[in-house]
Amino acid sequence: MEFDSIIVRYGEIYLKGKNRGYFEKALKTNIIKVLDKFGARIEFTAGRYIVNNFKASDRLALQDRLTKIPGIYSISPAYSVDATPENILEVALEIMRHKRGTFRVTTKRADKTFPIASMDFSKELGGRILSENQNLTVDLHNPNTNLEVDIRVNHRAYIFTDELLGVGGMPVGTAGNGLLLLSGGIDSPVAGYMMAKRGLKLTALHFESFPYTSPQAREKAICLAGILSKYNGKTELYICNIAKIQEQIHEHCHPDYMITLVRRFMLRIAEKLAEEKNIGSIVSGESLAQVASQTLESMTTIGEAMKSGKPFFKPLIGFDKIETIKIAEKIGSYDISIRPYDDCCTVFLPDSPIIKPKLQKVIEQENRLDVDGLVNECFGSIDHITIEE
Ligand code: ATP
Ligand code: MG
Repeated sequence: MEFDSIIVRYGEIYLKGKNRGYFEKALKTNIIKVLDKFGARIEFTAGRYIVNNFKASDRLALQDRLTKIPGIYSISPAYSVDATPENILEVALEIMRHKRGTFRVTTKRADKTFPIASMDFSKELGGRILSENQNLTVDLHNPNTNLEVDIRVNHRAYIFTDELLGVGGMPVGTAGNGLLLLSGGIDSPVAGYMMAKRGLKLTALHFESFPYTSPQAREKAICLAGILSKYNGKTELYICNIAKIQEQIHEHCHPDYMITLVRRFMLRIAEKLAEEKNIGSIVSGESLAQVASQTLESMTTIGEAMKSGKPFFKPLIGFDKIETIKIAEKIGSYDISIRPYDDCCTVFLPDSPIIKPKLQKVIEQENRLDVDGLVNECFGSIDHITIEE
């Protein structure tokens, strides 16, 4: 017996009132993009989706993909039959034949033409299962196995025992879009995941410092964008070489201001890209007090370079590194992030970066540079790669 269906449940969308249809439609569209690769189909019945028409050999890969789509709360691989008591009994007995320990049966009957009431049917199935398998006993409150029978209005019954949790959240795209500053580090891919989970469609921007940084550092950012695309869907990745900016700062400015100045340039370039691509917010992986550039004073002075008034989301602001690492491991980005290639921020690294940079001092340093010219020059040579999900 092979699973022929996957039940897909959504979470927070349930809380939406009049707008629920909009979120359901967006989720369905996002699911279909994944299903198309497997030739699978989707139906919608009474508050949940049923995926079917997939190859048995694809099921585990498909389940893995579905649990990564924001908006999906959980999934259950299921057997489906035409909803007659005999058909359901046959499958139920087969599922429970080799199980041990405690169990219960839970029937839900959306199809009121099914001839037996839910409670009565659960009892009947439970009795038959018990009489065929001496290794089982009933526990209604905390069973090892909950055999669920879901009888839908399409006169099909879905029978299953397992529920796998998805990432939850809201369908990507329903909360607008954001430009993720994606470094090669641990934090920013996690920040992207957190925002995609809230429904923000992400575009990624990576800064490199070629030839000071290696092609492997670029490759790393591409791999991280690949992980992100499992959650975010097809992802546009922009790569901007800021070597020229760093050289100019190195040549003309006080070394301790390197990081503050570079970060301000990054934000200017990010805002310009967001403006050009119609992106409504900026996202970074900053966490309060993590490093010199993430003190309150640094964030104030660096953030001042942003002029568009777009929201600047920092979803990890209150996270400990250990909490972030746990999520990085869960989403599969950690092993890529710890590959040992230099990031552009380690180029021309000062011995003692300013921890509390004063805006006035920073502006004095910037006055030694052609800020707009440098922004335009680096912006003009941005590379672009599309990462398919
Ligand atoms: P991460 O924070 O991702 O682990 P990191 O620790 O190297 O990387 P930080 O110094 O903590 O970087 O930088 C804070 C944030 O600034 C990053 O989370 C990221 O959003 C952004 N950022 C830093 N370096 C880059 C870069 N090379 N390209 C794009 N964004 C960057
Ligand atoms: Mg960091």
